[in-house]
Amino acid sequence: MSRAKCDILRERAMQQGRDSAMFAAWRRHARDCQDCATEIRLLDLLDHQADTERMHLPRRNSAMLVEMVRQQYQRPPQPSWMACVWPYLWKPAVLAALVFALVQVIPQEWAETTAPADEVAADASAAVAALTVGDGCYFIPLQAGAHELEQAVLTATSPAEAVCLPEVLPGRSVDRAIRQLRERIHVQHCELENLIDRDLSAY
Ligand SMILES: [Zn+2]
Repeated sequence: MSRAKCDILRERAMQQGRDSAMFAAWRRHARDCQDCATEIRLLDLLDHQADTERMHLPRRNSAMLVEMVRQQYQRPPQPSWMACVWPYLWKPAVLAALVFALVQVIPQEWAETTAPADEVAADASAAVAALTVGDGCYFIPLQAGAHELEQAVLTATSPAEAVCLPEVLPGRSVDRAIRQLRERIHVQHCELENLIDRDLSAY
């Protein structure tokens, strides 16, 4: 009997188990092969001893063995350095973010809303030059405290000239302009009343 065939049959029988068709084939082969018959007898003897003479470890010993294996091969995962330092770092990180926002972000927004007066004047001059009255526009600067705002509001004599309305107007200048307009209207109203009284008194 060829040795290679014995090895192949034994390997397949070991892989598929004692109840498999391959093990039965190996047993059939062992009828004509003394070496394989000896191996199968040894396997049957070991199997019989495993069933009848099996040693059972006490529960305490088996638990101790499991614990030893776990400590040997399953070391607890080491926490990352970030997890170690994060409890001490999150407060400074939040503080740094707040400081950055105060130093970088808010001044930029503040500068956008409160540009220096000379920049406003330069922008106003350029805008006035660009928007002429002939185009039906008058310029109202969008920044606070600009002299052009009052002049533009006070000199707007017809709705046709008020084409380019401002998006944002400073409250103080608008209030002052409205107050002056009301005073002028009040004066004209009084003059009209005087004229009407004079005309009526003639009759
Ligand atoms: Zn054989």
